[in-house]
Amino acid sequence: MKALSKLHPEKGIWMVDAPTPEIGHNDILIKIRKTAICGTDMHIYHWDEWSQKTIPVPMVVGHEYVGEVVQVGAEVKGFAIGDRVSGEGHLVCGHCRNCRGGRTHLCRNTVGIGVNRPGSFAEYLVLPAFNAFKIPDDISDELAAVFDPFGNAVHTALSFDLVGEDVLITGAGPIGIMAAAVAKHVGARHVVITDVNEYRLDLARKMGATRAVNVANENLSDVMNELGMTEGFDVGLEMSGVPSAFNGMLEAMNHGGKIALLGIPPGDMGIDWNQVIFKGLIIKGIYGREMFETWYKMASLLQSGLDISPIITHQFSIDEFQQGFDVMGSGQSGKVILNWD
Ligand code: NAD
Ligand code: ZN
Repeated sequence: MKALSKLHPEKGIWMVDAPTPEIGHNDILIKIRKTAICGTDMHIYHWDEWSQKTIPVPMVVGHEYVGEVVQVGAEVKGFAIGDRVSGEGHLVCGHCRNCRGGRTHLCRNTVGIGVNRPGSFAEYLVLPAFNAFKIPDDISDELAAVFDPFGNAVHTALSFDLVGEDVLITGAGPIGIMAAAVAKHVGARHVVITDVNEYRLDLARKMGATRAVNVANENLSDVMNELGMTEGFDVGLEMSGVPSAFNGMLEAMNHGGKIALLGIPPGDMGIDWNQVIFKGLIIKGIYGREMFETWYKMASLLQSGLDISPIITHQFSIDEFQQGFDVMGSGQSGKVILNWD
């Protein structure tokens, strides 16, 4: 089969002819229709320090996809040939305390598709049936292909009650923008999103943010005054991984505010802990998506009228993969999809 592989320990990704993977008793085989490029794939593409430590070479990468079930393992229940599926890219162990307690998203032995084992930039993907999620008929292939990052946005945004609340999102990457749309849809009052990239701030405006603020030339406190926010934000969603953005968020929070951290900062990020302590802030780390509550909520949010389709700004055929990686790397894009069909 055709696949995109991290073939060499250097910048780039290569089209290869890889063996079609074989399924085990509890697996399904998915024929991929569409894959999307994730920020993680860009780290692997650029072969940064994290990738060098993490990715075995050669390996087929990618973990955002939609496809069709073409084979089911002997023990699999609930899936049939022809089902349209995406799936949870975090494979959990099933025997640690959190797995046994039903909190599988907190499994301490998580293995990642397209990170620790072969991924979805391929004609075929093997997935444990446990991880698969059937896509309702009224949800398009394009949207189903971005359920993985949409799930990051939904899991983070729905960590706290947003109804009537003022929400600050730092980082208007694809995930931050989708989180802004979710926050508006579920009834937040003001949703303010920050970035330093005008293309992405524009996209955030299109997708419903109350204000999209370029912190390189506009002051967050001026925006708060303009919106009549005399006290501060109730909820913060950190989606940039940039220390100055998180520090700015801490300053802009109201007392008793709640923060969910998705963005991955450098490990030694320093903050003003007095902001946390004297304001009585609550901070929650987010990894991945809840299995599978986030997946059901994603489908329901779309079916109840949430429109995230503008986040998909580019589509290419798989043979044009290089253009896809170039546009994703330029910062002038939302989600970029590669088509296998
Ligand atoms: P992204 O890199 O596309 O988005 C980050 C955005 O932050 C960019 O648009 C960038 O311009 C912006 N930014 C830079 N400086 C800023 C500043 N000073 N203030 C505000 N914004 C600033 O990433 P993404 O794919 O949207 O993901 C968002 C973050 O979440 C990343 O850090 C990513 O690594 C992380 N992530 C975490 C998980 C998890 O499970 N915890 C999963 C996926 C992604
Ligand atoms: Zn586990």
